[in-house]
Amino acid sequence: MHKLAMLGGEPVRRHLFPAHNTIGPEEKRAALEVLDSGNLSQFLGAWGEDFYGGPKVQEFERAWAFHTQTTFAHAVNSNTSGLFAAIGACNIGPGDEVIVSPYTMSASAIAPVIYGAVPVFADIDPQTFCLAPASIEAHITDRTRAILVVHIFGHPADMDAINALARRYNLQVIEDCAQAPASYYRGKSVGGLGDLGVFSLNYHKHIHTGEGGLVTTNRDDLAEKIALIRNHGEQVVEEKGSKDLVNTFGFNYRLTELQAAIGIEQLKKLPALMEVRKHNSQFLSKHLDQFDGISSPYVAEDCVHSYYTQAFRYNAEILGVSRDIFLKALRAELPSSYGREKDSLIGGGYVRPLYLQPIYQDRIGRCAFNCPRYKGQVSYQAGLCPVTERMHFSELFILEYNRPGMTKADLQDVVNGFEKVYSQRQALRDWHE
Ligand SMILES: *Cc1c(COP(=O)(O)O)cnc(C)c1O
Repeated sequence: MHKLAMLGGEPVRRHLFPAHNTIGPEEKRAALEVLDSGNLSQFLGAWGEDFYGGPKVQEFERAWAFHTQTTFAHAVNSNTSGLFAAIGACNIGPGDEVIVSPYTMSASAIAPVIYGAVPVFADIDPQTFCLAPASIEAHITDRTRAILVVHIFGHPADMDAINALARRYNLQVIEDCAQAPASYYRGKSVGGLGDLGVFSLNYHKHIHTGEGGLVTTNRDDLAEKIALIRNHGEQVVEEKGSKDLVNTFGFNYRLTELQAAIGIEQLKKLPALMEVRKHNSQFLSKHLDQFDGISSPYVAEDCVHSYYTQAFRYNAEILGVSRDIFLKALRAELPSSYGREKDSLIGGGYVRPLYLQPIYQDRIGRCAFNCPRYKGQVSYQAGLCPVTERMHFSELFILEYNRPGMTKADLQDVVNGFEKVYSQRQALRDWHE
């Protein structure tokens, strides 16, 4: 076998992997139709029929509600704004606490902060990487108002246990489904398991509209609040006859007709795209599992995973070389992909545990952490969530080679890269920067 590329040898592969592109003639046609109509958005920030948006937005919402088996789906312009609307709809404000996962994209935890509330980080489960119910319970105080779960990497959180806690302590449950557009828990779609679900349609997700998102719920009261927060609620509450006015002052979180038309076509493609993702993921899991010390993602019984990425576990003791050096060697063997030339499709850990970010370390902002109405003592110390830190800093690695567009030969190159680094890992033992 050739010498490792990191040590000056020939890499397993030089030419880039294929781009990830789910947009085709269907989306083009749908977008052109909207452009021809001249009606790129029909939302009106006044009470009336157009308060709920135009025909494409409403058609897309019906299709999404059907897809997620929920009563209401409201389109928004991002998952981030959807999370803000969800926190607002739950009447959360200064003095309140929301339990969130520290192992997620930063927006999940910022939503409470926007409303002057305090995010409290509980630890994750080492198999699913979602919030661990026991840790959630340990962090509940008399200020806790909601649990914001994230179905991270596409694996559903343990919703039965989490909903039981919510009932016992009278809390609302918000699901961040950004990475889980086709995930199921005991036969039910995510997004309808808690009080509110929030999806993402940004460019990096399974299907996309450039930017965009949806908020799902089975509760009429919350659906109304979301619609108000999405579209200048203060302007319409009187005429609409809204009763609960708390947090109904609104933003502009509206999705355009153009994006909704593209979203309708993207949603139709989701089942086929999921089949490919599942197939690719199973291929990679099967082959990479053969290397001692590398374990493929766990999927709980009764759960369907969306495989946004594949999160493997790495055991440095068995492999005899640190995760980060192993991955560095692997990145030298395998190129990036078209459209992501500067990026790698494999990395150690995900995002740094959120409480280590400056906003929490330095408690920046007058509300929420420093709000006079806040009587709690939230901690953001390093060491707060030991499982999260262990996964992030040493045991977990993530790859995106499972995405649609990869051929069997492409996937085989990935396996060959692993094989080469694995078989020559002794050479990495005394490697230094
Ligand atoms: C992508 C993502 C978001 C943010 O989604 P946007 O639509 O870009 O606002 C939030 N949470 C998670 C878990 C995500 O993966």
